[in-house]
Amino acid sequence: MKAEIVSVGTELLLGDVVNTDTTIVAKALAEIGVSMQYACTVGDNPQRLEQVLRDSLSRCDLVITTGGLGPTEDDLTKETIARVAGKTLVEDKQSLQRIVDYFKGRTCSENQYKQAMLPQGCYVLPNDEGTAPGCVCQTPEGKQIAMLPGPPAELRPMLENYLIPYLRGDDKTVILSRNIHVFGKGEGTVAQEIASFVNGENPTVATYAKEGEMYIRVTARAHTKEAAEALCAPVVKALCGIVGDYVYTTEYDSLAETVLHLLMDQGKTISTAESCTGGLIAKRITDLPGSSAVFEMGAVTYSNRIKTLLVDVPEDLLRQHGAVSEEVAAAMAQGVQKRSGSTLGVGVTGIAGPGGGSEEKPVGLVYVALSDGKETWVKGLKPSPVPRKRSFYRNRAASAALDMARRYLTGLPIV
Ligand code: ATP
Ligand code: MG
Repeated sequence: MKAEIVSVGTELLLGDVVNTDTTIVAKALAEIGVSMQYACTVGDNPQRLEQVLRDSLSRCDLVITTGGLGPTEDDLTKETIARVAGKTLVEDKQSLQRIVDYFKGRTCSENQYKQAMLPQGCYVLPNDEGTAPGCVCQTPEGKQIAMLPGPPAELRPMLENYLIPYLRGDDKTVILSRNIHVFGKGEGTVAQEIASFVNGENPTVATYAKEGEMYIRVTARAHTKEAAEALCAPVVKALCGIVGDYVYTTEYDSLAETVLHLLMDQGKTISTAESCTGGLIAKRITDLPGSSAVFEMGAVTYSNRIKTLLVDVPEDLLRQHGAVSEEVAAAMAQGVQKRSGSTLGVGVTGIAGPGGGSEEKPVGLVYVALSDGKETWVKGLKPSPVPRKRSFYRNRAASAALDMARRYLTGLPIV
């Protein structure tokens, strides 16, 4: 890696202050094998500083600046670097908190807070000896600019404790991810809705598809878990606001786990009568420890005879509408709710394929029903426009049933 040092400060050019920062930085970088190519000094003048930065970036991979990070008018390094890197300045919550703590019990002028403004997406270098944080900022060309404060007593610990470990790649950076699980909206739609978040650097935001579901992953890098959490939290909140009630959890790993916790918290129970899912819903719930508190009965009512025998689906209904119908799904949910005495009954019937489909009832057509003994809701799932495997339809149906239960338990519209 090729690097240059740019010292900022008119006092250095006037010979009032000896440039010891350059010595300290040069020595520390040489020790970790960074090839130092140039070092220069520039006054507190944003135009000349910008020119010097652009020249340096055209030659090397890393530019380290010293000085000009403070709260006063002539401290313009940060603004200039942000402009060169094409970033806006945003408030860094952790740095702001440090400044507030630093001035506790003393008066703090308004311009002190300006120091918490850092280039968007930068890697923050905490200042353990003062108020102005440093940072490492990426340019669009993939080069790096690291900013360090002027006073040697602040620069040295920041360099040794944060910048060098960062450059060596052995910093104790915490990487933390939060997953926003979504059901009922496709990855393409969600990706479009949240497009403005996807270019972020810290945290990063990405979408992933999972059989019949999708999730958004928000990942932050910081020095502590709390700091990473603080970076993720507002973004997670904003994304949840955009995607709306299709978000089923930011806490748990699956729909089944979300439903399990909702049932547990509310002291409610669930039972299932499954046809095409063959017990998949029961399996997903009972895979989880603690499910015995909420799951009471799971019947795989595959044949018509058993649908009638175990969960009281009227023979007439089966004859009139066929096993794969809204009416039979509803009757299965009602029947299993009544037989089990659980708070909720789930019924699923459909054609998972590959065979068994007809023009009227094609492969992929599934009805999912939920009943609480008073009301019953049925959702029809249509075949996918592209050919799908049996497992896809079964998984999608199981998820849809769990999502109906989730909606019921959180007071949302169910269908
Ligand atoms: P502050 O928050 O104190 O204003 P700063 O990061 O803005 O810090 P400057 O304002 O540029 O830094 O410099 C503050 C003081 O730090 C200078 O008056 C000088 O004493 C010292 N200093 C700055 N640059 C250097 C340097 N390259 N070598 C040694 N000392 C320096
Ligand atoms: Mg200053």
